[in-house]
Amino acid sequence: MTTFASQHATAGFIALDEQWSTHNYHPLPVVIAEAEGASVTDVDGKSYLDFLSGYSAMNFGHRHPALIAAATEQLGRVTLTSRAFHHDQLGLFCQELAELTGTEMVLPMNSGAEAVESAVKVARKWAYQVKGVPDGQAEIVVAGSNFHGRTTTIVSFSTDETARADFGPFTPGFVTVAYGDAAALRDAINERTAAVLLEPIQGEAGVIVPPAGYLAEARRLCDEHNVLLIADEIQSGLARTGELLALDHEGVRADLYTLGKALGGGILPVSAVVGSRAVLGVLKPGEHGSTFGGNPLACAVGRAVIRLLATGEFQQRSTELGAHLHSRLGALVGHGLSAVRGRGLWAGIDIAPGGPSGREASQALMAEGVLCKETHDHTLRIAPPLVITREELDRGIDAITRAVTR
Ligand SMILES: *Cc1c(COP(=O)(O)O)cnc(C)c1O
Repeated sequence: MTTFASQHATAGFIALDEQWSTHNYHPLPVVIAEAEGASVTDVDGKSYLDFLSGYSAMNFGHRHPALIAAATEQLGRVTLTSRAFHHDQLGLFCQELAELTGTEMVLPMNSGAEAVESAVKVARKWAYQVKGVPDGQAEIVVAGSNFHGRTTTIVSFSTDETARADFGPFTPGFVTVAYGDAAALRDAINERTAAVLLEPIQGEAGVIVPPAGYLAEARRLCDEHNVLLIADEIQSGLARTGELLALDHEGVRADLYTLGKALGGGILPVSAVVGSRAVLGVLKPGEHGSTFGGNPLACAVGRAVIRLLATGEFQQRSTELGAHLHSRLGALVGHGLSAVRGRGLWAGIDIAPGGPSGREASQALMAEGVLCKETHDHTLRIAPPLVITREELDRGIDAITRAVTR
């Protein structure tokens, strides 16, 4: 890594990216070559703490040995069959994921956006076939400032103009209400409503935790009006908040959950919709699918992820380290920060007016060997891998303290 030839390789790789890859991201100027646990190393041999975790895709850290072993083992057997045939990992993956999440059925997909698309399709079909909504009239209620992915249908119900502009015409059938406003949710539900789709904590929006009781009230309204509650736990789920699912904090169950990101162990994209048989059972052969969804390699890695989650160790680490994170960040409110939100080892921090922008703070942190990313102008999202040690966490928080109080 530090041979003469590769020294200061960063600029060259960035130039290549800028010439040949579409400019749909604005990455920090770091070029990662290797990673392990909570650390990554760049092409010039400099090491950084990863305080982003691939937006929660790396909950178990980089190259967790149990996950790499499961992937390697499966690479030596069979990697893809298509769903035209059965294979020996699919049923076990679905059973184990259903048991872990306390659900009855699993629809395996690849990306998070595909899981959300799948949940939208299933909810619509359920509305027509089970609830009896007149054909073509099903509505899905969503929240403002949501993030559910990037497909044309999903950006149709985004409230982020940057995500939508010039991508229309948009998919109809979505009704947007303010996040956290139970009265608005109640007013938006009618006899054509198929589902309410919510992030239990809005990640992309800046780790927004809704008011106490909001999610329970959403559940109650859905029950009252025979509406499905769909929880998008792609970022909030799988131990990030200290529980398996963020909804577990509220004692609330959804009819459908979308899972992704950490489900692939940071190795490959694995997503799923999990839920009740009464809902997911509406799908019949030929109506929905994916060439790669539920492939043997994805299922083998997913099963290893499930085994890690079943120990409860990661949920506990998130709870304990999260309490430490929030107590230290909380002390910065009024001293560089204007607000701290979040749950477990997950925080959105607003930099106080007069301080650096989110981008400037991310760049200052990068210079100190800590990688995280702004979301919106003055907000940073902090989501270290759940394998991070307390010493590493403190080192990162020290750097954040310097970056926001400079
Ligand atoms: C990341 C994310 C998605 C989209 O997942 P992709 O794998 O990027 O398609 C959907 N919902 C939430 C809440 C997310 O955080």
